[in-house]
Amino acid sequence: MVVQIGKIQVGGPQFTVIAGPCSIESETQFRTASEGVKKSGASLLRGGIWKMRTSPKAFQGLGSSAFEFIKKIKAETGLGLVSEITDIRQVEEISSFVDAFQVGARNMHNYSLLKDLGKQPKPVVLKRNFSAYIDEWLNAAQYISQGGNNNIILCERGIRTFEKATRNTLDLNAVVYAKKHSQYPVLVDPSHAIGISDLVSPLCYAAAAAGADGVIVEVHPKPSEALSDADQALSLEAFDKMMNQLKKVLGAFDRTLTMA
Ligand code: PEP
Ligand code: MN
Repeated sequence: MVVQIGKIQVGGPQFTVIAGPCSIESETQFRTASEGVKKSGASLLRGGIWKMRTSPKAFQGLGSSAFEFIKKIKAETGLGLVSEITDIRQVEEISSFVDAFQVGARNMHNYSLLKDLGKQPKPVVLKRNFSAYIDEWLNAAQYISQGGNNNIILCERGIRTFEKATRNTLDLNAVVYAKKHSQYPVLVDPSHAIGISDLVSPLCYAAAAAGADGVIVEVHPKPSEALSDADQALSLEAFDKMMNQLKKVLGAFDRTLTMA
């Protein structure tokens, strides 16, 4: 099944790269990141406006103070934006400039949010909770579709295992299983899965080889200065290199990148 995010088709024969910072931190940061990832071939932007941080003392996102410059940067780049919502009241606030709503891993079990998202028409990128069975993830998708919105994209973003060397463990089983047993496109988020920037690119290639419909990758113009998830952010240079290799991996499977 193909799900349309703005002008971009996710889930067709092509591979969609969604890229941008973990958090939108400033006008300059978001513009530099957006222009950079566009130049390297990303067809959609990502960027958090409200962040679900482990500590309440950590940076929580710019919220409404970012709206105006986000609109400007979107108009400049012409790319669609995927951004997380944490509360259904945010839909009204951001629907004029956000093209798909991400449900973060921590909210995958927030069934009232899922039900509410089912009653509105925009696509939903549903991340798998780090402790969720595949079955629970697919059931979460049904909470959305039951309300009438079938524009759902699944996203595997790493699960908790006994292993602590990496942030999480990318479950490629879940990717191939969801591709077989669900009708929805399946994305991979290698950034949260491994949490270590120089190991993100190989997981992008693995996602492509496994038959995922795309990746959602964190990229920052100055990774070491990122206000969230600094350890896993690709620099613009590293992202560009990754994209060049990714095209070759896709070529081996007779696939190409989705073009914006
Ligand atoms: C994110 O995309 O920045 C994020 C918080 O992801 P997750 O919900 O998968 O942790
Ligand atoms: Mn993040």
